[in-house]
Amino acid sequence: MINFEKTVKKTRILNPLKCFEEDTITFEYRTDPLTGRNTTVIKGMLDYISKFLVSDGELLNSLVAKTRVNCPFCPENVKTKTPMFTEDFLKEGRIFVGDTVVIPNLLGHAERSVLVVLSKEHHLKLEDFTPKLIRDGFKGGVAYLKTLSEVEPLTRFPVFIFNYLPPAGSSIFHPHMQVLVRDRPFYLVNLLLEKSKIYYRSNASSYWSDLISTEKKDEERYLFEINGVEWLVPFAPLRGLNEVQAIVKGRSNLLELSDNEWGGLAEGLSKILQFYHKQGYISFNVMIVSGPMNEHLDYFDVNLRVISRPGIQALSFTDAWALPYLLWDGEAVEEPELLAKKIRKFVRADV
Ligand SMILES: [Zn+2]
Repeated sequence: MINFEKTVKKTRILNPLKCFEEDTITFEYRTDPLTGRNTTVIKGMLDYISKFLVSDGELLNSLVAKTRVNCPFCPENVKTKTPMFTEDFLKEGRIFVGDTVVIPNLLGHAERSVLVVLSKEHHLKLEDFTPKLIRDGFKGGVAYLKTLSEVEPLTRFPVFIFNYLPPAGSSIFHPHMQVLVRDRPFYLVNLLLEKSKIYYRSNASSYWSDLISTEKKDEERYLFEINGVEWLVPFAPLRGLNEVQAIVKGRSNLLELSDNEWGGLAEGLSKILQFYHKQGYISFNVMIVSGPMNEHLDYFDVNLRVISRPGIQALSFTDAWALPYLLWDGEAVEEPELLAKKIRKFVRADV
């Protein structure tokens, strides 16, 4: 059984913005139904921080032009300025799928860390992340994983991540995705795997399929389904800036996904990025988490999270502040149900 637990707390202040009238502020503590982690929903916070989420168009354009010079991922440089795989790993040195190029990372974040350069264009608006472009990136990443699982079967815990533009932590402007693979899971992946196993043992069913059926019935946070991939807004977001989750039903690791399911992830992600673009955002993060590649787990489903990040402007505001970064708590700047409503309206209008 999935339990959506929340507690509402209120505090009173004399508000200078309302001629010092008494005002009530509401804090909603929500417990993640799987991990037990707290996320505080603060109504009205999105409006309060919205001025930091838009971008200074002139500054953005000047950074695009500056970083375009000698960009290693632009088409004229990608074959001469990026690393290659060693011959014993991949004879051709790099993997090419459509406009996508897969290369090893110069430094990286794991013992097996590769970059998937996504486009020939140096800069893309979020509306330009088409399903085909994202799907080609996924195909390139999967081709790499297949080779890796043959050469090094013990390096079996993969994640796909996107850090798009500097507010999302990227040092390179050019659109790219990363595939990180280790012999051990990342902390969050390990937590999700452990908690999913405990849930499976005590409920005799998968948390992920129970979550989908509960959310689909209730409809408050449910968005849509594409090719067996279910999209929703999480009850207790990890970070909370326009956070959306996708679940690939019955697939516990990235090598189990069919082309059709990769298409469902790409098309859904493209829709969410179109929505972000419409809201004025330019930057985002994505993670796709997976169980180990060498076995199927009945208790875990591959799943994705996507969040928008602040805009590019002189003030350099960041939402990576002490509460989520050091205290490990979650914070949502608007009610997840309200975000789901906005996305559903946008997607329906788009059809
Ligand atoms: Zn470039």
